Amino acid sequence: MKYRGKLPLVALAPAAVVVVGIAAAVAIATFGTAYLREQSDASAQLRSRVLALTLAARVSATPVEDRPELIERAAQRSGAELLLVEQDGRVVVDATSGVPSATRVVELLVASEGEARTHLGTARFMAAPLLPPNEHLSLVALVSAPEKPFASGSLMVSVATLTALLVGAAALVAFALARDLDSDVRFVRERIVEMAREGSEPVGRHIPVRSVDQVGLLTNAFNLLVDRFTAAERAYRQDLAGAQAYDRDRTAFLAALSHELRTPLNAILGFTDVLLSEVDGPLSADARENLTIVRTSGGHLGALINDILDLSALESGELRLECRVMDVFPVAIEVAREAEVTAHAKGISIEVFGKPATAYADARRVRQIIGNIVGNAVKFTERGGVKVRVDPRDGGVAIAISDSGPGIAPEEREAIYQEYFQSLDVERRRTGTGLGLAITRRLVQMHRGFIDLRSELGKGSTFTVVLPARPPPAPPRAPAPSRQTLTSELEITGET
Ligand code: ADP
Repeated sequence: MKYRGKLPLVALAPAAVVVVGIAAAVAIATFGTAYLREQSDASAQLRSRVLALTLAARVSATPVEDRPELIERAAQRSGAELLLVEQDGRVVVDATSGVPSATRVVELLVASEGEARTHLGTARFMAAPLLPPNEHLSLVALVSAPEKPFASGSLMVSVATLTALLVGAAALVAFALARDLDSDVRFVRERIVEMAREGSEPVGRHIPVRSVDQVGLLTNAFNLLVDRFTAAERAYRQDLAGAQAYDRDRTAFLAALSHELRTPLNAILGFTDVLLSEVDGPLSADARENLTIVRTSGGHLGALINDILDLSALESGELRLECRVMDVFPVAIEVAREAEVTAHAKGISIEVFGKPATAYADARRVRQIIGNIVGNAVKFTERGGVKVRVDPRDGGVAIAISDSGPGIAPEEREAIYQEYFQSLDVERRRTGTGLGLAITRRLVQMHRGFIDLRSELGKGSTFTVVLPARPPPAPPRAPAPSRQTLTSELEITGET
């Protein structure tokens, strides 16, 4: 069963034909020989009967002294063995190749007809009594019935020759058919493999039907499948193009709207700051509280607008990095210092460890990356603290930000990098937009770095960002880049 599919059809089909042919020939030869034997026995029996009866009649009418001559002449002419015997088994005239014993003769007389063995081999016999007044005498005629009947040799030769011819012809035809079939199957298989090759063009090309047999039917069915697949792929591409266009429109709209919102928002924030500084006069407690709410909400709105603008720049490919060799450690200290106010207000600690470590990166974006992750850590941690650790690692720098917050469930560890994703946990959705980590990961990938998350529910999370220390190696001056190379470059820059 296991290697059934591996048996070569070309060798199998003729072999089957040859085996069946030989089996048929053996059967024909066996039955033919048996039939010939049967016929030969029947004819020998008939001859012995005719001889015995006619000779008995003639011998009855012949004088005693002439009987031996008559019987011997008859034996010579007919080729049979003849005996004239008394009822007690005594032989009166013997025209056989060897005279049988009296007992044997009596056995023949009792049996009257049947099969007997003579010195010449198997024979059929008949014993007929003479006519009265000689009825004490019987004439026994033995006609030889050979083991190998007459013509059985030529039957064998004819059957063997015919079989050889038929088997040869059948094998040739079977071989030719099987070879054609095999070549058709190979042709279809090669075409399918060719079609399945990545980037093969044009997509949806039919396989030519070369024969009207099973392979042809199969090819037709495959072509129908290709048609359906092509139609489905076309519909999918159209839908995809539509969705991409829709996505671009949405991003462009959000970017335009954000731009429009940013100017009045900056004015609102500016005037609120002026009012809160009380240069225009003292504020009542209520007014100060209300203005503080306006300031905080305006700040959140500003952060959201900045995130949307960043995301749109990332998607359109407008966001460019200005990379240089820079020390990440002071950036981490600065971010932690800024987050300290919020952390202390919540009663949690924030600490920075490690040592100077250089990365080849855009300082502003590194600040944004660390700021986003530290901001989340402080935001979601209610007791304990946040630790930032900067260390050189494998030709780059590793920035690990750990917190003792609620942790992130395993099923959410990939989803948190999706745009607008926020945990199902309602408590944690109070503030934020769900854009921070999406932007952070794309920025890290643009730097050719990666981000890793270890987390345990109820114990905390550690986000580790690894950035390279050196610029990417200059591309070799090679001929036009292959499709493969272009794809991997696109993946590295994260631009679509
Ligand atoms: P948000 O503006 O909601 O913070 P992010 O993209 O920064 O958006 O984060 C997405 C979600 O990931 C958050 O809403 C929160 O559910 C989860 N998350 C991020 N950082 C942490 C953390 N340190 N601890 C627990 N959950 C976190």
